[in-house]
Amino acid sequence: MIEVKNVTKSFGDLTVLKDFSVDFNQEGVTVLLGPSGTGKSTLLRCINGLETIDGGDIIVNGLSVKEKKNLRQIRLDCGMVFQRTVLFPHLNVMQNLTMSPIKLLKMNKKEAEEKAVLYLKKVGLESKAKAMHNELSGGEQQRIAIARALMMNPKALLLDEVTSALDPEMTSEVLKILETLAQEGVCMLCVTHEMQFAKHVASRIIFMDKGIAAADETAENFFSVVRKENERIAKFLQFIG
Ligand code: ATP
Ligand code: MG
Repeated sequence: MIEVKNVTKSFGDLTVLKDFSVDFNQEGVTVLLGPSGTGKSTLLRCINGLETIDGGDIIVNGLSVKEKKNLRQIRLDCGMVFQRTVLFPHLNVMQNLTMSPIKLLKMNKKEAEEKAVLYLKKVGLESKAKAMHNELSGGEQQRIAIARALMMNPKALLLDEVTSALDPEMTSEVLKILETLAQEGVCMLCVTHEMQFAKHVASRIIFMDKGIAAADETAENFFSVVRKENERIAKFLQFIG
């Protein structure tokens, strides 16, 4: 569903992605690991067309990110949630969830609100439908952001360190939701430093280092065999826990 083909991306003199290729199908959770500054966020942003690529191509469900006219569909297909989510501050939770489906998917208001209630239940926040963003904790805001992304029926979720600004308790609340979504078959491409989550929920681990995929393995293989055999990865994992 997402094919990254020989992608090169530079910022000035700094080449962040070097002839980078990887395919993501629709099944399971792929975790992107790697040291800071190695291009994980850049990769997700390129997939979603938030950054333009310098070489190669990214095809999402048959559409190239290089064509401006495809970006709307690509962003519908790949919902993205970031480290710090910005909910629309002038809208309450229900309005945050229903605005895009009504505007972009032409869903009627009643249908959108019914769907929002389902997703609010899924993220355990049905009591917060009327809340404004400043009345929510960081973890609650992230759970709403995940629900908001799911409202658009994305074929994949791109998650960039969605728990790294949260305390351990809120982190675990958000990870629990991601685990449930994974069990329900939602395809996720996830940058995270949460190793327990990566170990237990991911089916595939891609270790990025210096702009390339230095390892692309099943989670099982990565955490048993590869971590022992690859010195760089062993060091990274030792550091991160
Ligand atoms: P982290 O784990 O710290 O989030 P990352 O792997 O997500 O790191 P990126 O955010 O993709 O790393 O950044 C890769 C490199 O590109 C970094 O050196 C960063 O400084 C640089 N970079 C990213 N975005 C820009 C930009 N808009 N302009 C210039 N340099 C950028
Ligand atoms: Mg990043």
